[in-house]
Amino acid sequence: MAFKERVFSGVQPTGNLHLGNYLGAISRFVPLQETYDCIYCVVDMHAITVWQDPAELLRNTREVTAAYLAAGIDATKHIVFNQSQVSGHAELAWVFNCVARLGWLNRMTQFKEKAGKDRENVSVGLYAYPALMAADILLYRATHVPVGEDQKQHVELTRDIAQKFNTDFAPSIHAHGFGEAFFPLTEPLIQGPATRIMSLRDGTKKMSKSDPSDQSRINLTDDADAIALKIRRAKTDPHPLPHEEKDLDARPEADNLLGIYAGLAGTTRGEVLREFGGAQFSAFKAALVDLSVAKLSPIAGEMKRLVQDPVYIDSVLSDGADRARAIASETMKAVKDIVGFVRR
Ligand code: ATP
Ligand code: MG
Repeated sequence: MAFKERVFSGVQPTGNLHLGNYLGAISRFVPLQETYDCIYCVVDMHAITVWQDPAELLRNTREVTAAYLAAGIDATKHIVFNQSQVSGHAELAWVFNCVARLGWLNRMTQFKEKAGKDRENVSVGLYAYPALMAADILLYRATHVPVGEDQKQHVELTRDIAQKFNTDFAPSIHAHGFGEAFFPLTEPLIQGPATRIMSLRDGTKKMSKSDPSDQSRINLTDDADAIALKIRRAKTDPHPLPHEEKDLDARPEADNLLGIYAGLAGTTRGEVLREFGGAQFSAFKAALVDLSVAKLSPIAGEMKRLVQDPVYIDSVLSDGADRARAIASETMKAVKDIVGFVRR
C-alpha cells in the first residue's frame, strides 16, 4: 500500500538549544516544507523522562517553539504543537510498549549513555522512550523523519515496531479495510555535512543540551561575543587544515569545525577545504566566527522577540494541537479497531 507522504520530527524542551539541534534537525525541517506536509512537535513528554523543573519546562517549550518559527517553519501551512496536548501519543505508546520486545530496547545506545552507571535509579520512561518516539511518528503515519545521526537507531526501532504491528495484526488490519499494512516503514532523513555536531571541548563527544559545560556548545541564544569566544577556545590540533577530506579521519576536532562551517554555509566539507586547505586554525576560526554570527544572530533575535509574547506562542501550539489531534484521532480509532478494543 502506498502511504501519503508526511514528515514528522520533534525536539525536546530540555533547555540549551544548540547548534547541533539547529544544523542536524531544525534547519533541515525548513526546506522539507516545500515538498511535504510537515508536523513539527515540541516533545515535552520525552523531556520529563529526566526530571524537569515545571517552570523551566514551560519556558523551554515556548523557546523551542520560538526556535522553530524563527528558523522559518510556517505554522499556518504546517503543524507546530507540543506533544502533551494530543493524548494519542500516550495511548499509542502503550500499544507499542506491548509490541516492542525487551531485547530491542535493551540494545538502545541512547538509554545506555543517558542512564550511565546508575541504571537502577533512572525512570521507567527513559527506558521506554523509543516506544513513545515510535508512537509520535506513527500516530501520523509519517513516512519521513528528519533527525540527527544520534536518532538513527530509534527510527530503525520505529520501523521494527511498525513491521511487527503490521504482522501481528495482519488479518485484523485486512478485515478492517486497511490492506496489507497499517503503518508505513518510516525513512530517516539524515543528510548533509552536519548530522552529528560534536562538543567544542571534545571532538569525540556529541554536542548536547545536557553537557554540563556551556563551553562545549554554541547555544542558539548566545550573543556574538559568546559565539566568538567559544569558537576561539574550541579544541583543535596543532596542524594546518588539510587539502583532502580523507585526511580528516584521525582529526575529529578539525572535522567537526569543518562540518559546522559546511552546515552553516550550505556546502560540503570538500568545498570548504578548497578554500581553507593549508590554512591555520586561527584564520579558519575567524571566518567561522563571522559565518556563525551572520547565520545565528537573526535567529537569536527573532527567538528573543517571540518568547516575549507567550500568549502568541501558546496560541500557535494550541492551534497546531487541534489540527494534529484531528489526524491522530483517526489513527487511534483504527488502531483500537485493529487491536480489538471496544469503542463508541
Ligand atoms: P538531550 O541531551 O536532552 O537528549 P539533544 O541535544 O540530544 O538533547 P534532542 O531534543 O534529544 O536534543 O534532539 C533534537 C534533534 O536534534 C534530534 O533530531 C537530534 O538527532 C538532533 N541533534 C541533537 N544533538 C545533535 C548534534 N550534536 N548534532 C546533530 N544533530 C543533533
Ligand atoms: Mg537527544
